[in-house]
Amino acid sequence: MISSIDLKRIAGEEAVLRNEPMAQYTTFGTGGPADLFIRPDSREKLEAVLAALKESGTPCFILGRGSNLLVSDAGYRGAVITLRKSMEAITVDGTRVTAEAGAMMPEVALAALRAGLSGLEFASGIPGTIGGGLIMNAGAYGSELKNVVCEAEVLTPSGEVVTLKSAELDLSYRHSALMGTENIVLSVTMELTPGNPEQIRAVMDDLNKRRRDKQPLEYGSAGSTFKRPEGYYAGALIEEAGLKGFHVGNAWVSEKHAGFVVNKGGASAAEIMQVIRHVQQVVLDRSGVPLEPEVRLLGEFN
Ligand SMILES: Cc1cc2nc3c(=O)[nH]c(=O)nc-3n(C[C@H](O)[C@H](O)[C@H](O)COP(=O)(O)OP(=O)(O)OC[C@H]3O[C@@H](n4cnc5c(N)ncnc54)[C@H](O)[C@@H]3O)c2cc1C
Repeated sequence: MISSIDLKRIAGEEAVLRNEPMAQYTTFGTGGPADLFIRPDSREKLEAVLAALKESGTPCFILGRGSNLLVSDAGYRGAVITLRKSMEAITVDGTRVTAEAGAMMPEVALAALRAGLSGLEFASGIPGTIGGGLIMNAGAYGSELKNVVCEAEVLTPSGEVVTLKSAELDLSYRHSALMGTENIVLSVTMELTPGNPEQIRAVMDDLNKRRRDKQPLEYGSAGSTFKRPEGYYAGALIEEAGLKGFHVGNAWVSEKHAGFVVNKGGASAAEIMQVIRHVQQVVLDRSGVPLEPEVRLLGEFN
């Protein structure tokens, strides 16, 4: 494992933290410490940090907003890198919007609205970065990033910056070719269509109202805990299995929307995981349908 002193020499004194609790960086509000937490303030520093981590054999993880992430209570033995704060620029060129990976999707959607561009209305309520969104092919209310992304700049494990076209990203339901690889999204370019700002705003307002009405936004969560199984809705299967309100400690199957596991305050990652596994088992026994978590895991879980 590389020392924090060596990393500070590369990334700067302020950019490297040791034993940083991850709970504050995840929307679940859980997670133990990462050995190292790094905020490179430029692409050059990001590349240098990655090269140093690789050379020293230090595992690393790229963090977006942590809105689809469950970090174990023991944390992560390696380096977590965040692109937020330093790589958040959004530029509009005609009908093309390019956002750096750390930009939040609601901000990107807002930039599109301001430019009178339609196509990102669905993303205005998704509380993640565009980098994490591309990895997950985030989507909602009948649309998804796949419909608008034309290309992405990616830093490959060998340190090369390449531009991948939409087809090469192989985007499908909550999946991209980059998922589970060591490639890092640097920026995403989307092709949108000219639209009426008032209508775009009205669609966003409507979708966000639907979210507020249906989703337990008052509690920590990672959105839908499970992927939608082919031919079913996870929330309906969970509700039919009588699991609404099932809880372990303060980790609950939301009573408002059974598709969400929520942290009602101080739940541990282990408790959230117990709820997830119980739900999977009961639904499998009752309906024969396996539920696959949409949530990504970081660290060790028993
Ligand atoms: C209240 C709520 C509502 C939600 N609603 C929706 C919804 O409607 N639709 C939907 O699709 N999702 C939804 N989500 C889930 C989540 O917001 C999305 O999956 C989002 O795309 C995750 O982005 P993130 O930046 O938080 O990624 P993170 O959770 O930080 O990371 C997710 C994965 O992406 C990887 N990653 C992140 N950034 C990069 C990068 N730059 N390069 C390489 N890998 C990277 C991480 O390593 C990790 O594997 C919701 C979540 C919450 C809490």
